[in-house]
Amino acid sequence: MSRPAIRHVVGIIAALLVAAGIGLLAGRVAVSLTLALAVLLAFEVRNLLRFERWLRHKDAESPPDITGLWGEVVASTSRLHRRKLFHEQRVTALLREFRRMASAIPDGVVLLTRAREISWVNAAAGRWLGLNRKGDRGMRVDNIVRHPVVIAYLEDPDGHPPPRVQMPGQDERWLEFHLVRNPLGEQQLLLVRDVTSEARVDAMRKDFVANASHELRSPLTVIGGYLDAMEDDATLDTVWREPVAEMRRQSDRMRGIVEDLLELSRLEARGGPAEKSPVDVAGLLAALRKEVLAQPEPAPPIEVGAQPDAFLLGSETELHSIASNLVWNAVKYTPPSGSIVVRWWADARGGHLSVKDTGIGIPAEHLPRLTERFYRVDAGRSRKLGGSGLGLSIVKHALQRHDAWLEVESIDGKGSNFTCHFPAARISRVTH
Ligand code: ADP
Repeated sequence: MSRPAIRHVVGIIAALLVAAGIGLLAGRVAVSLTLALAVLLAFEVRNLLRFERWLRHKDAESPPDITGLWGEVVASTSRLHRRKLFHEQRVTALLREFRRMASAIPDGVVLLTRAREISWVNAAAGRWLGLNRKGDRGMRVDNIVRHPVVIAYLEDPDGHPPPRVQMPGQDERWLEFHLVRNPLGEQQLLLVRDVTSEARVDAMRKDFVANASHELRSPLTVIGGYLDAMEDDATLDTVWREPVAEMRRQSDRMRGIVEDLLELSRLEARGGPAEKSPVDVAGLLAALRKEVLAQPEPAPPIEVGAQPDAFLLGSETELHSIASNLVWNAVKYTPPSGSIVVRWWADARGGHLSVKDTGIGIPAEHLPRLTERFYRVDAGRSRKLGGSGLGLSIVKHALQRHDAWLEVESIDGKGSNFTCHFPAARISRVTH
């Protein structure tokens, strides 16, 4: 017990003893004790009422001036209350400061509930997404940003890359969306970044590459034509035979690079998902096999096992480009003593095209970067084999347009397996 509490109890006992003594002297102990208890009770009730009144108005009134144990209770309560007020003010100030900062940051910030309803919006997000900072509170963000790519991303952020979309409106800004989720909390954060200038530079780069490749095509054709004629010319000095042959190889290589760059530009320019024409993959693979067998260079045996009734709904030229790049890579990077197996099959998950070889394989550290433009594991070897370093980049882009993805498995020195996975929505069963 605290000292004021002991004093309080001792005071009560003393008052009762005095009352009892007076009662004994007056011969009325019961009356005297009852009176003393009534006075003590009145004292306690009065303090209790003052305390309770102050509790109700503690924000406006200063604490009552009470001494003893009641004074101690009032002081402790007042101290706790002051501390709570202090913390509340600090948290409010911090929150205000945070909102002021978040409002001022140049990126857009939208605070969402788990159900994707808007709780708060900063100035940039309000401006870019056309959100009314007060009026749209509680609205679902996907009812406001109605872009299908953004909606698909919000529904499954792990399954989609952060989308970049051009917003309709006067300034036609490009915005990139990032959803930051809090697995424990109720809130999630939608970050919006203005990528207009990046998108413009990207578009300029694509235009430049497309135009430059296009312009290079005609001179290369002319040079190739003259080199053809020189090679066929029986009167050509033998000293020039080897240099002309080398020039021919190099001009063919350059033509290959230009064609690949143009194809990549075309794929990028098309954007969006590919058309859905039924493509006979088994027929396409059989034709590719014939092409490989018809070439003069020694090549490894190639086996094709394809499900003939599974047609792929897509663009025939792009699917040909995918299969041809993968098959010719397998031919390039597999010695004639090795083997190549090409398979096409459909199951409940979709369609799968795999090209497996027993070639040189790829060291694991290169696998994540294989589909980058001009990325080669061994630049010297690839160049010698006539590779542009763009083949797998074309494959990746064409697959993306078919909502498909590429899986690469490879063991250095043992061989590689490239598998394209197409969604079930792009498979059509045909009955012959
Ligand atoms: P390239 O025109 O150089 O073949 P690609 O983009 O088609 O360019 O392939 C990129 C790189 O991936 C190649 O340079 C090669 O190192 C590696 N690669 C691709 N396919 C295979 C394969 N089947 N076996 C081994 N390495 C491969």
